[in-house]
Amino acid sequence: MKKLFAVITVLITLSMVGIILIQYSWLKNVILLKKEQIRSQINQAEYEVIDYLVDVKSEVDANVPLDMLPSNPSEELLKMLGKKTIAESVTVKEIHDKLRVAFSSNGLQNAKFQFAIISAANDEGPELATPEYLSVYENATIDTGHNIIDVWPLITVEESAEGIMNPKEKLVVVLTDTNAYLMKSIWGLLVAAALFSLTIIAAFYLTIRTILTQKKLSEMKTDFINNMTHELRTPLATISIAVDTLKNEKVIGDRDKLSAIGSIIKAENIRMNTQVEQILQAAQLDVNQVLKDKVPLNVHEVLGRLKDKFALQLEEKNAVLEMQLGADKDDVSGHPVHFVNMLSNLLDNALKYSKDDIAPHIVVKTFNQKKNIVISVEDNGIGMSKDTLSKIFDKFYRAHTGDIHNVKGFGLGLNYTRKMVEAHLGQISVESSLGKGSLFVITLPLS
Ligand code: ADP
Repeated sequence: MKKLFAVITVLITLSMVGIILIQYSWLKNVILLKKEQIRSQINQAEYEVIDYLVDVKSEVDANVPLDMLPSNPSEELLKMLGKKTIAESVTVKEIHDKLRVAFSSNGLQNAKFQFAIISAANDEGPELATPEYLSVYENATIDTGHNIIDVWPLITVEESAEGIMNPKEKLVVVLTDTNAYLMKSIWGLLVAAALFSLTIIAAFYLTIRTILTQKKLSEMKTDFINNMTHELRTPLATISIAVDTLKNEKVIGDRDKLSAIGSIIKAENIRMNTQVEQILQAAQLDVNQVLKDKVPLNVHEVLGRLKDKFALQLEEKNAVLEMQLGADKDDVSGHPVHFVNMLSNLLDNALKYSKDDIAPHIVVKTFNQKKNIVISVEDNGIGMSKDTLSKIFDKFYRAHTGDIHNVKGFGLGLNYTRKMVEAHLGQISVESSLGKGSLFVITLPLS
């Protein structure tokens, strides 16, 4: 079983890590592809605008035959010849509109950009630019991760044929916040990938948790069966020895011995009965039946009966059971047997888990709170650690430390009590500190 559990855990972990790694590598590829796609969309849009600007330039150039110009004509010469530059022939708005339309038609509707036409002959700055171009350009040269700077030489077909590779004007486009396009196109995928990864991890966690709980439960059940077998065998063995002794001739004649052996048999019989009763209590528990069979009950009267029932045990342990029954109203609706058992278990535990060196002092209190009656059982016993406290209501749970080991029980009592309190539409809570004692509090609705 242990080995199988380890194998299952390893297999699930491997497949989970594998799936997450594959997802990661797919995502990485998708991001790369998307980046390339966006890059080519940007290029495509910008080519369209360059085409337009180059056309403008061709028209401008057509004013003067090219072969009459020196290879790099000065601005003055151009002006003298009446030749204009692109910057003089188009407006910022015209280029802006062209770029906007081009970006939109290539799927980049929300592209944020600034641009400028730079003249090779003019060192003083752009000939023509959008208002924020300079600051955005400067920022883009520093933060290259989120911005793209594209510089396009504006060369006409004629210039290219002439071998002019160093044009007089260039178009510079600065695209800002470029990661936003990427995020916009892949966020759905990212969210889906994260969701599926989380689902896989959650499923894995639940599987392991369920296996662990089942394992713990099966260990507890084994413990319970061993414990029960031992607990039932002990009185049986004692009774068997006592009966054998009864057959002895010497004993038959001795009335005192006969009576002592009779008492032993009776005591062991009671012990067995209590144990069988406890197991039956847990096994036969049918919450729906409890709800159906409720009758009017008087809490103080039930507590009085319990005090009588425990009188012998209290005396044996030199214990004091103090009743502070302060509730004005104590009428509830409860099951005639289960209601008594549920309170009896608390008193039983308060006695069972007492300290060896101090006489048990148990205080039972009642008081009213809104439309409820609160019943508390406080002891000065061995108490419980925080870890134990969180488990005491689990079926078959028993704290296996120190002295507690010697105390008999099946770990069913408090589980039964909690189920019963809930069947009576109440709540149970507990406070305890190790070595100091425990306080169980039951709140029940009044009828
Ligand atoms: P059992 O008494 O048969 O072991 P219970 O369900 O009644 O089973 O109690 C579960 C565990 O809770 C006990 O084994 C004990 O460790 C702890 N416990 C219950 N009541 C008390 C108490 N009054 N003081 C200290 N420990 C307690």
